[in-house]
Amino acid sequence: MFNKILIANRGEIACRVAATCRRLGVKSVAVYSDADANAKHVAACDEAVHIGEAAAAQSYLRIERIIAAARATGAEAIHPGYGFLSENEDFAQACEAAGIVFIGPPVGAIAAMGSKAAAKALMHAAAVPLVPGYHGDDQDPALLQREADAMGYPVLLKASAGGGGKGMRVVERSEDFAAALASCKREAASSFGNDRVLIEKYLTRPRHVEVQVFADKLGGAVYLFDRDCSVQRRHQKVLEEAPAPGLSDEVRRAMGESAVAAARAVQYVGAGTVEFIMTGADFYFMEMNTRLQVEHPVTEMVTGLDLVEWQLRVAAGEPLPLEQSQLAVQGHALEARIYAENPSRGFLPSTGTLKHLRMPEGVEFTIGSAAQRAPVRIDSGVREGDTITPFYDPMIAKLIVHGATREDALARMQRALEACEVVGPHTNVEFLHRLVTCEPFASADLDTGLIERHHDALFAPQPKPVREALALACGALYAREASDARGASPWSALAHWRLNGGYTQSLGWRDVDTDTAFSATFSQDGDAQTLACAGRVERYSWWHGAGANEYGATIGDTRVTGRVFIDGDVFHVFCLGTAVALEWQNLLAHAADTEHGEGRLTAPMPGKVIAVLVEPGAVVEKGAPLIVMEAMKMEHTIGAPTAGKVTAVLYGVGDQVADGAQLLVLEAG
Ligand code: ADP
Ligand code: ADP
Ligand code: MG
Repeated sequence: MFNKILIANRGEIACRVAATCRRLGVKSVAVYSDADANAKHVAACDEAVHIGEAAAAQSYLRIERIIAAARATGAEAIHPGYGFLSENEDFAQACEAAGIVFIGPPVGAIAAMGSKAAAKALMHAAAVPLVPGYHGDDQDPALLQREADAMGYPVLLKASAGGGGKGMRVVERSEDFAAALASCKREAASSFGNDRVLIEKYLTRPRHVEVQVFADKLGGAVYLFDRDCSVQRRHQKVLEEAPAPGLSDEVRRAMGESAVAAARAVQYVGAGTVEFIMTGADFYFMEMNTRLQVEHPVTEMVTGLDLVEWQLRVAAGEPLPLEQSQLAVQGHALEARIYAENPSRGFLPSTGTLKHLRMPEGVEFTIGSAAQRAPVRIDSGVREGDTITPFYDPMIAKLIVHGATREDALARMQRALEACEVVGPHTNVEFLHRLVTCEPFASADLDTGLIERHHDALFAPQPKPVREALALACGALYAREASDARGASPWSALAHWRLNGGYTQSLGWRDVDTDTAFSATFSQDGDAQTLACAGRVERYSWWHGAGANEYGATIGDTRVTGRVFIDGDVFHVFCLGTAVALEWQNLLAHAADTEHGEGRLTAPMPGKVIAVLVEPGAVVEKGAPLIVMEAMKMEHTIGAPTAGKVTAVLYGVGDQVADGAQLLVLEAG
C-alpha cells in the first residue's frame, strides 16, 4: 500500500478519497486553487499545495502543476476523482512518465473508451450488445443521412468524444437530420475539440442501468452489480439507486458478465462503470466511464465495501479483495444529489454563501466498516459558511440512504430530505422531495423521461404551509425578543395596549419568495390566546423544542413542529418538508435607523392611527412603543428611536395620516 497519495480534485470527492486514506493510514495531499484556499477538502488532507487561479483551466486542469505538486510532496500515486482530469489520457500518461502511479486504468483503456464510436467497435468485437446504430469512421453527411433513414426515426446523434450529457441531438424526422447534424458537429467541435459523431436508434422510454466493474493488474475482474440512474434532467443524473429495481437474476448476471467482458476487452484495471440503456429485459452498451462514478456510494451501501479502498489496493498491485462468488447485494440504497440550483428556472445554478447548512442528524458516515451500514450518509465538500462559487460544479452534498427494502430506503430518503436545512443559494431539495414522493418513482416505474413526463406535477406551484410557518416564526420571534436585552421588543407593547380588558398585538411579515405580506395578530382575553393569520382566528400556543432552533405551535387543532433559522429579520422556517422564508417587518428597527437624531417620528406609510400609547411629557426608553398604526390591513407599532421625552403627540386614535407625516415629537435625552 502507498504511504502518501495526492488527490487531484476538490469538493466532496476529494473529501471522500481523503476519508479512506485516513482510515487506511495513507497520507493525503490536497491541491487547491485561489478560490479553495479554505475549502473543506484542504482541511480533510494532511498537506495541501496551491496550484493556481480559480478557473479550473488555470488550476485543477493544469497537468504539469499537479505532477509538480506530487513530486514536491513525495506522493507515490495520484487519485483523479471524477470530472477534471479523471478521464484524460495525457494526464495518465504524464503520471506514468513521472513515475507516479495513476489510480485508474492504463492509458490504453482510457483511450479506447474515450471515443464512444471506437469503444462501440471494440464492444461489438467482444460480443457486448449495442444499440442499433452507426459508429463508423466515414463522416460523410450524405452517408450519415442514409444510415439514419435506414435505421428509422427518431435517432440520436452523439458526439463521439462527448460526456456530461452534452453534444447530443434527438432527430425526429429525416428532413431535420442535416440541420441537427451540423449543429451537433459544431457543439462537439467547440466542447470536445473533435466533431466526430455517431448515430443511435433513439429508444423511447428506456432505462439507464449501469454496472460497476473492478479489475486488478493480475487479470482478475468482477462486477459489483448494478445501479439505476434513469431519473435524469438534461441527460444528467439526479437520483440513483442500487440495485436496479425489477431485474431478474438472469438479466442481472447477463449484464454483469457483459460489463466484465467490456472491461476485459480493453485490459481494464481499477474501478469502471459500464453504462447500458435498457428497454424491457434488453440491454445495450452505451459507454464506459473509466473512473469512479459520482453515484458509487449506492453500490458501497448495498455491498458494504469501500470502493476507494479497492482502487488504492488495485493501484498498489494487490489482487481484488473479493471474488465474484463472495459478492452479494444486501438491501437497497438511494442517492439524491443536492445542488445549488433553481429547478423552477430550468435548474439554473445558484451561487452564494451557505449561511446555514444542516443535513440529517449531521452524520458524516464512516466509510469502510463493512458491518455497519449507516441509514443516512452525507458526502459533502462544503461546510456552513462556505461559498458556492460559479467556478465549479454547484453540488452541495450527496444524500445516501440504505434500507432493508426499496420501500424502507424511500421512506428514509423522504425523511432525510425533510430534515435538510440550507439557507443561502437556491437548492433542489424540495424538487427532490417531490420526485421521491411522486407515484412513478415510488412504484419504480422508471425511465429517462420520468421528469419531463411528470413535469406539470413536479413543477406545479405548491401551497406552502404559511399559516404554520407564521405560527412557528412568531414563537421564535417571541423567544428571541424575550432573551434580547435591547428592549425594542414588539411584545413589550402587550403591557401597554389594552382594548376591552384584553390585549392585541400585530406583527407584520413578508413571505420572501412570493413577496406577499401577512399579519399575525395575537389577542389575549382571560386565559384564551388566539392568533389571527391567513384569514383565520384560532386558539394559539407555542413552545421551544428540544434543539436550540426547534419550535412547536398549536393553532386550533393543528399541532406543528419545525426548525427556525433566524438571519437578521428573516426567519427561515423548515416545517412539513418545505422551507418558508418570512421577513419580520421590524418597523421599530427601521424607525431607529431612519429617524435617529432627528427628534421626529414619522409615519412609514399612509394609514390610520389605532392606538396612542403615550401622553405628552412621558419619559420613554429607546424602543418603547409610542403609536400603533394600521395600513394595508396590517398593524405597525412605531417605537422610540432613542430614549427621551415626548413633547407633543400630533395625532389621535382614528386619524388618517399621510406617508411621512410627523406623528409626535421626541426630545432625545
Ligand atoms: P456520472 O459520474 O454520474 O456519470 P457524469 O459522467 O455526468 O457523471 O460526470 C461526472 C462529473 O464529471 C461531473 O461532475 C461532471 O461535471 C464532470 N464531467 C463529465 N463530463 C464532462 C465534460 N465533458 N465536461 C466537463 N465536465 C464533465
Ligand atoms: P454521456 O457521456 O453524456 O453520459 P451517454 O451516452 O452516457 O452520454 O448518454 C447519456 C444519457 O442520454 C443516457 O443516460 C440516456 O438517458 C440518454 N441516451 C443515450 N443514448 C440513448 C439512446 N440511444 N436512446 C435514448 N436515450 C439515450
Ligand atoms: Mg454516460
